[in-house]
Amino acid sequence: MNWKEQLKKFVNTPERLSTYVNLSEEERAVLSDNKTTWGTTPHFASLMDKDDPNCPIRKQVIPSALEKQNCYGMEDYLVWKENRATDEVRPDSIARQYRDRVAFTVTQTCGVYCRHCFRKELVVDGNLKLNFNLDEGLHWLAAHPEVRDVLVTGGDPFLLADEQLEYLIRKLRELPHVEMIRFGTRTPIVLPQRIDAGLKKVLGGYHKVPIWLNTQCNHPKELSEETARAVYDLLGCGVNVGNQAVLLKGINDDVETFRHLHQKLLSVRIKPYYVFYCEAAPGIDHFRTPIEKGAELIRDALRGHTTGLAQPMSVVATNIGKIPLMPDYYIVNKKAKEYTLRNHKGELTTLPNIPE
Ligand code: SF4
Repeated sequence: MNWKEQLKKFVNTPERLSTYVNLSEEERAVLSDNKTTWGTTPHFASLMDKDDPNCPIRKQVIPSALEKQNCYGMEDYLVWKENRATDEVRPDSIARQYRDRVAFTVTQTCGVYCRHCFRKELVVDGNLKLNFNLDEGLHWLAAHPEVRDVLVTGGDPFLLADEQLEYLIRKLRELPHVEMIRFGTRTPIVLPQRIDAGLKKVLGGYHKVPIWLNTQCNHPKELSEETARAVYDLLGCGVNVGNQAVLLKGINDDVETFRHLHQKLLSVRIKPYYVFYCEAAPGIDHFRTPIEKGAELIRDALRGHTTGLAQPMSVVATNIGKIPLMPDYYIVNKKAKEYTLRNHKGELTTLPNIPE
């Protein structure tokens, strides 16, 4: 099935989903009552466990009754997070938290409607209506020479047609101040068929304005042969591929899964970049861990326990930008003449403290 056929056969009815899994009574009940956008591609559905409702892919795709409980999520989360209530005049497509880089939203369509999505008010619940016009965004960018880095996001920008992506990339590269283009897309994971000859033509070829790509893979089960091939092809086009995992309770917040996920990402040539704290959007309390959990998992599962390249940075994304939260137990003591340092096994060593 090519990518367009995958989208035509999008798995977003209980009948279609039943061809991949044996739905539990609870899943059936929630789906029959569901008013939100949900579903995924046949490719991603085929990776689900047929009989286990706790399958990490099922939990990311199939709506849960817990989404109706909202004790800690913030209403109007996206407006707060993306600084949309500001005096700066910007089109809906441009979200800004930093001076030299912006997020440019080009669609609200996705290849999977993740239940934990921090943009769920927009893409899953449909409570927030925004207007994403490519030319309006490009026009704003042309008038802002301080922006050197544009993150193209969504929804999933790789669901645009090849012609639209070619136009977008060409127009961005025509702006003399744009030094790099980034894409945030789950297609390498949920729709690897999207990385086809047409897209490779759009992305490939040497250019002085590079394209970087970050995908989102949250569990080792999501990594298929098709994904490995798609990533290889992206790299062949000069597009580096990183991962931005979301830390999800009951899905990837244990040492073994967390380590396996990051090791397996490297085995398919994806570089772990971030692990995000699951954000305080409404209706996703059940996915959220304590805020320190990401740093603890890096300490207990990765740092010193496996290849250094497997280590992402743990961050909390907020309205004032990303706040890094990394393990901080390494420097045990600092004296006038020496430092005492601790390794991942708890062993201590000392190094001289050189005066400044
Ligand atoms: S693909 Fe991205 S934007 Fe779409 S639902 Fe998932 S996390 Fe949200």
